[in-house]
Amino acid sequence: MANSDLYHIVIRSAAAYILCAIVSVVFLFTTYQSYSKNVKDRQPAMVEHAKSLVDGRMEDLERLLTETGRSLAATSEDNIAVYRSILELARRTGGFETVVYMADDRLYGDGADVDTEVLKQRNEEIQAAESGKVHTIENVWEEGDIYLLFPLQITKENGQVGTLVGIYDCRPITGGSMFEELRLQSACWLIENEGKILSYCPNDTVNVAQVPSNNFYMQLYDLTEGSRNSKSRVQQMRHAAQTEVMQSLEVEAQKSHTCLILLQHLDHMEGYSIATVTDMNVQNRFIYRFLRKTVMMLLILFVLSATAVLFIWIYVKGVTSRMEAIAYADDVTKGKNINYFRKEVTNILQNHSETPYIVQRFDISNFRYLNEAYGHMRADDVLRACVDIYRKVYSTKELCVRMDSDQFVTLTVNDNDVNERREQYMKAVNEYTVANGITYPIRMKYGVYQLRKQDRDVDVMIDRANAARRSLNGNEVESVAYYTDAIMRNMSKVNKIESEMQQALDNGEFQVYLQAKWDIVNNHVAGAEALVRWIRPEGNMVFPDEFIPVFEKNGFIGKLDFYMLESVCRKMRDVLDAGGVIYPVSVNQSRVLLHSPEYIERVKALLDACRIPKEYIELEVTETALFDDRDRMISVLRAMKKEGIKLSMDDFGSGYSSLNTLKDMPFDVLKIDREFFSEAVTSDSSTLILHKIIEMADGLGMEVICEGVENEQQVELLRSIGCRRVQGYYYAKPVPAEKYIQSYCEIAEGAL
Ligand code: C2E
Ligand code: MG
Ligand code: MG
Repeated sequence: MANSDLYHIVIRSAAAYILCAIVSVVFLFTTYQSYSKNVKDRQPAMVEHAKSLVDGRMEDLERLLTETGRSLAATSEDNIAVYRSILELARRTGGFETVVYMADDRLYGDGADVDTEVLKQRNEEIQAAESGKVHTIENVWEEGDIYLLFPLQITKENGQVGTLVGIYDCRPITGGSMFEELRLQSACWLIENEGKILSYCPNDTVNVAQVPSNNFYMQLYDLTEGSRNSKSRVQQMRHAAQTEVMQSLEVEAQKSHTCLILLQHLDHMEGYSIATVTDMNVQNRFIYRFLRKTVMMLLILFVLSATAVLFIWIYVKGVTSRMEAIAYADDVTKGKNINYFRKEVTNILQNHSETPYIVQRFDISNFRYLNEAYGHMRADDVLRACVDIYRKVYSTKELCVRMDSDQFVTLTVNDNDVNERREQYMKAVNEYTVANGITYPIRMKYGVYQLRKQDRDVDVMIDRANAARRSLNGNEVESVAYYTDAIMRNMSKVNKIESEMQQALDNGEFQVYLQAKWDIVNNHVAGAEALVRWIRPEGNMVFPDEFIPVFEKNGFIGKLDFYMLESVCRKMRDVLDAGGVIYPVSVNQSRVLLHSPEYIERVKALLDACRIPKEYIELEVTETALFDDRDRMISVLRAMKKEGIKLSMDDFGSGYSSLNTLKDMPFDVLKIDREFFSEAVTSDSSTLILHKIIEMADGLGMEVICEGVENEQQVELLRSIGCRRVQGYYYAKPVPAEKYIQSYCEIAEGAL
């Protein structure tokens, strides 16, 4: 996982948490709001309900007394026992303290255990009260007590008039079942409209009625003590209470509590009201608790999750950096590898967009020699030094990594002294090797690609630098090549060749051309060399120097060379079958092919299959192929020789092979290189060398053929120094195999 992925995870988690927190806060806030709104909305409904219960109760009491009055009216006066039982029934049914009937100066009681004489003394007050309406009467049996008084005028048949009186203890009303629901969250009062308290039931949560006052409003003043504004609003409410049936007031009470005061007039007790006070803070306490718990839980969850994310992040970062260290390390140099290069170049270029850069691909010339001469360990030390020294010579915004074997790639600032620094670098590497006992000079071949503004693909940059480096091949003087468009064109040519080669082989586009070799002693054809020509479908001929180097690099040459050998053998067979004459044909064979283990067997099988005597086929191996793996090459050539296959050394004199090579290599034919020969013709000393070579080859039993003979004068010279065979345009040019056959194989036209 890349670091950027990790940052994304953390940022996304943080964003998710913040979102969750916002959603939770909004949710909690709305929950809180709707809860307190619910409390406020429910309160008036509950008061209304209590009011209807009280009204209903009063109505019932009035009806009961009316019924009782009727019964009394129907009863004869002297039947006291009946009076008493009627009154008692009324008391019991209505829950009165006492029910009495007062007529003349007499008072009939209900038998209750109360002092009814007191009522007789208050007769005047009772008679003054309006019949059929509820009144209050105070200080009846005790100082400060207060009762509801229900007086009812009774008229008998004989016209006699009396008063039925119901005394109802109103103090327990608010504590009774009618206020059951209200009491749970509010303090409740039954008051006279001026505020006198008839009944009061406190509530634990409401901090009012601490002052022993029998006036409701006095208690409210006490409740709102300290809040001038609230007090004046209570006063207004008190005023309005005389007329308004229902009132609701929210005030600020002591200890910053908010109290909701509700007041509701009673219908059946004119001049009386129910009042409640609800402490909203206490009511909201539950939701506060709930909110606090939820917030705490959210916080804990957040801290836990954040810790978990942090832990995972640290862990994954650790794992990632360990994995990165492995993924980006180069085992040999202990530096970074190409994957790191790819990643880091992109970063560096982004951060230093104004700096001109080059990408360099370099390798150590003949590194194989270092390996063989000093061993792998010390050769690896040199590779390591290449990276270490780069770091010392170059800045931190430059890079150098090993790609593989002795191949390096660098990202280097293209400043004024880029060349100087390169020299300095190579010098430092050589100083290191000398100091470590390696006397072999370290030379590097550089391919340089100058980055352009639009360049993004690191692999393309590396490939271009590499294409430039490869353009140096074979030239030991130059050590730096810059990438050019020509190199690119060549690269695309190579790509085209590579993409088409297999199909071309399958389609038979590679054709055998034969160039006759000439015996200048007998002036007669002595054989031929098979040379490949690529005839494109549109008829264009492509010469081997265009595609053979490509095939040699990509290994396809093995296929082509064997194909050529096969074609030559088949054609020879055809000539023989047609009764013609054949001469030996030499076929060029690359080292790739020679190195394949089953090569000799394949050649033998081919010759057997075409029934071609071995002396008619000669295999040409270029001189340069011999440097590759000398010992192995010698053993392959010896094995072929053992099988009776003829071998010739091609292009002798073009490379650096010594005459010494010849003694170990079992060649039958020595082909003198065209360039070497043309030089020999112009200088006496070279002629002498050539003469000696021919003599020596003779001595070794090798045949000599000179390539590139183009005129009579050259033929004469060769004759004079003992060369018997030549190959060149003077005698014959490479021609299609069919034409060669017609010219030399003595076959009648159309016989093939
Ligand atoms: P080579 O094997 O040394 O072939 C001789 C080259 O010299 C041929 O070039 C030939 O056309 C040319 N030549 C012969 N006489 C004269 C002359 O008088 N004057 C001049 N200027 N040139 C002369 P070609 O056919 O273009 O082949 C070039 C090279 O390509 C060959 O050199 C050989 O190394 C390689 N090649 C050609 N065909 C094959 C093949 O089938 N397999 C492999 N591996 N290499 C091949
Ligand atoms: Mg040749
Ligand atoms: Mg040659």
